[in-house]
Parts: sequence; C-alpha cells; structure tokens
Amino acid sequence: MGAAKNILKEVFGYGEFRNQQEDIVNTIVSGKDALVLMPTGGGKSLCYQIPAMVRTGVGVVVSPLIALMQDQVSALKQLGVKAAYINSTLSASEEAMVKQQARSGELDMLYLSPERLVGEETQEFLQSIEVSLFAIDEAHCVSQWGHDFRKEYQKLSMLHQKFPGIPRIALTATADQKVRSEIIKELQLEDAEIYISSFDRPNITYSIEEQENGKQQLWRFIKDNHANDAGIVYCLSRRKVENVAEFLKSKGRKALPYHAGLSNRVRESNQQKFLMEDGVIIVATIAFGMGIDKPDVRFVAHFSMPKNIESYYQETGRAGRDGHPSNAWMAYNYQDVVMQRQFIKDSDAGDEHKTILHNKLDSLVDLCEQLECRRQTLLRYFEETLPEPCGNCDNCLNPPEKIDATKEAQMALSAAYRTEQQFGIMYLIDVLLGNDADERVVELKHNKLNVFGLGKEHVKTWWRRLYRQLISQAYLDVDSEFGSLKLTEKAKPILQGEESFYLRDVVKAKNKSKKAEEV
Ligand code: ADP
Ligand code: ZN
Repeated sequence: MGAAKNILKEVFGYGEFRNQQEDIVNTIVSGKDALVLMPTGGGKSLCYQIPAMVRTGVGVVVSPLIALMQDQVSALKQLGVKAAYINSTLSASEEAMVKQQARSGELDMLYLSPERLVGEETQEFLQSIEVSLFAIDEAHCVSQWGHDFRKEYQKLSMLHQKFPGIPRIALTATADQKVRSEIIKELQLEDAEIYISSFDRPNITYSIEEQENGKQQLWRFIKDNHANDAGIVYCLSRRKVENVAEFLKSKGRKALPYHAGLSNRVRESNQQKFLMEDGVIIVATIAFGMGIDKPDVRFVAHFSMPKNIESYYQETGRAGRDGHPSNAWMAYNYQDVVMQRQFIKDSDAGDEHKTILHNKLDSLVDLCEQLECRRQTLLRYFEETLPEPCGNCDNCLNPPEKIDATKEAQMALSAAYRTEQQFGIMYLIDVLLGNDADERVVELKHNKLNVFGLGKEHVKTWWRRLYRQLISQAYLDVDSEFGSLKLTEKAKPILQGEESFYLRDVVKAKNKSKKAEEV
C-alpha cells in the first residue's frame, strides 16, 4: 500500500479516497503544482494534508480565516499530526516556540495567515527551514472578480519566485472561469495540473419561494420536513436572528442565535450545543458556518437572501455532508435585494468592482425567479452542464405557475432592436414607459418609435425583471464594456411569434417590489 493510502487509513481513518483526491495527492507528492476546484465539503483539506505528511519537511498552509485555521490545527493534533499555526493570536514567545519546532523538524504542517506569510520576517524564516509544499486555501481570494478579494493574496505569487521547486497547491470552492484564470495568472500556476470536481450535490433538494408571511412559511417548512432535525437558518441582520430564534423557541424547538453581537462565550456554547446535541437549530448571520463540520445538518434555510450565488451555494452546502437527503430552502423578499444593493453602494469597493457585485446579485435574483430546474441553473452558473432537469428541486417537483409574457418579451426585444442595440436596460425601460427625461430620447427621435410608451401596463421593476430573464436565458447579450443589449439568434423566433416566453407568476411581488424601484 502506498504511503498516502496508508496515512488516509491510519491517521484519518478513511478507507478510500474520494473522487480526485488520490490523483491530486499524487501530483503534489511528486512535486508538481495543482489547482483544485472542489465544492465545499468535497474534501479539499486531505489533498494537502496527506502530501504534507508524505513529503519531508513542513507543509505550509495559507488560510485567510483565523478561526478555521485554529479548528483545523486542533483537529489535526487530535489525530496525532504535528501541526501548528502562526497568526496574530499568538504571543511572541508562543510564536518563537512554533518556529523552533519547525526548525528542528518537529512539524508536519504549519498554518499561516496570508498577512504573515508575505511578511519579510516570515520569508526569512521559511528560507531557513525545509518546506515540503505550499497550500493556498480559499485561493479565490486572489481574484478581484471573486467575492472575497484580499490584497495580501496577490503577493503570494512570490512563492513561485522565492521557492522554486517546492510544489504549490491552490484550492477553492469557486469555479467560475474568470476566477479560475485570475488564480492561475496571479499565482503563476500556468504549469499546474487542474482538477475540477462537479459542484452537484444530488442529495440536496433546492427550493426557493417568495416571502408572504415569512415566519409562518419558515415554520411550515421546518414542521413539515424537519420536525426533529438539526439545521441552520440564515438571516441578514442580528435583530432578525434574535427574532427568528425566539419564534422557533416559542414553537417548541431548540433554537439558538449566533451572530457577531454575542459574546465569544455565548457563541461558542451555542455552536457546541449545535454540534453535540440532537435536533438543534442554529439561527445565524453569515458569521456562522465557516469550518463547521457537522455531517448531519438536515436543512439550511435562508430567511434572507444571500449576496450572491457563491454564498448561497457555500451556505446551502453545509446541509447533508453525510450524503443523506437534505433540504436547502429559501424564502426571499425584495427588501433583501434592496438591502444587498445598499450594502454594495455603501461598500468601499471601486466602481468596476461594484458593477461586478451588482451583476452577481442579479444572477442570484434570476435563480430565485427561475422557472426551470434550479440545479441546472445553479450548475450553469458554475459553468457546469446538467443535461436533464434534476427531478429533485421545487421547480422539477412542482412546476410553478407561469404567465405568458411573450407580448412583453417582444416589446422588450424590439425596444433594443429599434434603438440600434446601443442602449442598456434603464434606457430601454424609459423608452417602453414613454419617459423622455433622458435628453437622448428626443434627440435620437426614440419618442417617435412605436414601442415608445407601449409598456406602461407594467412598472419599471417588472421590466427590469423581464430584461434580466431575457439576458439570463440568452435572448439578449450584454455588451461587457457599455452595458448595451444585443439580440442573439435565440431572439428571432420570439420576435416572429414562433415561440413563447414565460415568467414565474409573481403578480403579488409587483406591489411589494415597488420599493426596489429606486434601486
Ligand atoms: P472542504 O475543505 O472541501 O470543504 P473538508 O476537507 O473539510 O472539505 O472535508 C469535508 C468532510 O469530508 C470532512 O468531514 C472530511 O473529514 C470528510 N472527508 C474528506 N475526504 C474523505 C474521504 N476520502 N473519505 C471520507 N471522508 C472524507
Ligand atoms: Zn430540478
């Protein structure tokens, strides 16, 4: 038996490697670089932990989250692996001790925060010891396009220059093509073997509904499907967390809040109960879940909309790690969209980055309003194709009510066509609503077009939604530079009345979404 397989069994207690783990381990053990794209819960950690133990020297792991680093190190220590970390929580003497252990060859693995790793002092230290590999966890943090950009990550390219010949393994659960190429470029991983795992989590049933009487919907979902199960409910604000936890308690469930406003002691004790006791529901802001490894979480409920599909996927991915049937349920509210947009506006991101964040939020809204298979939509976002509808999401199981919006789709498409395909959504909606406040409307005689004012039957938000759907279903292409909308080949049959176009029936949402109007 190979050394790697032996460690898998003897140290970690697992009989077999999963999916591509074995190939990845072999690549690193043989001294080559690797880029690993694997969904949360897929088993990324072993991909560097085992090579770090097979190869001589210390495996250096860069991880951006201090809590996660500490959890991993203590888990490894329990298994008898010689692991340690250096981050801002260590005292000077503790740090000196860890370094001493590394120098004398007593460590298999050393976890470092990116800030530490790029520091001059650490660089010198690393030069003085034998490093077996560099693992760069959460590698998407290097990408501006990603959802978690961190400046220090961009400096990690120096690993390649300063430590030539030491294998590097970059890992992330974010797979989109843009992020992938940025990781390769920024980390100089041009020669790395690339491993892409499927993002499909077949045991998770996805369902998304709109909030009407929110808490009752949440309760119905939990009562009907998870009367005694452990689960996580995500909310956007601390106040909502407290409120929902109280509500679930009043229904007789063990529900505990978790958010940054609680003391460390309370947070830890609630987390511990969730892990140790049966049937506990954690109601949490997104602060919860990083590094939580509880295999039998039977449901993840979003009581607020997350900020993008990556977050949705990551958070829902905490359900059903044991492979048993589990639910990912969301009840969204147009208020959440307004709030998320405000977060983006108020953030200190640059303009270009803000546009990216808005687009990512749009993709999530599309997923919510989607009529087709949720899993297909989700996987398409991660650039993976599922050939058939999954049969295990709300849209597959209970096809939603649709309204025929063919007439409106024709209007929307011809507005783009009649204005020479030179304009973006907002301008086209102005035209459809007969609004000539934009002086270009009169100047270019767009107020003379027969589509001018033709769309007054619907409000602005309705049209935005229609345009978003036309874009996400590839009837329109957005010019990445100017935001102007161009018709694709697919648009023709609609314009010619040969095909119909449907929207999810959310008439009720129309009024509620008036607030989203200003955004
Ligand atoms: P990721 O970092 O990709 O989110 P982890 O490395 O935390 O995933 O692994 C997720 C879970 O799967 C952990 O509980 C881990 O112990 C378990 N796991 C990983 N590889 C295997 C394997 N080959 N066999 C059984 N369980 C595994
Ligand atoms: Zn489906």
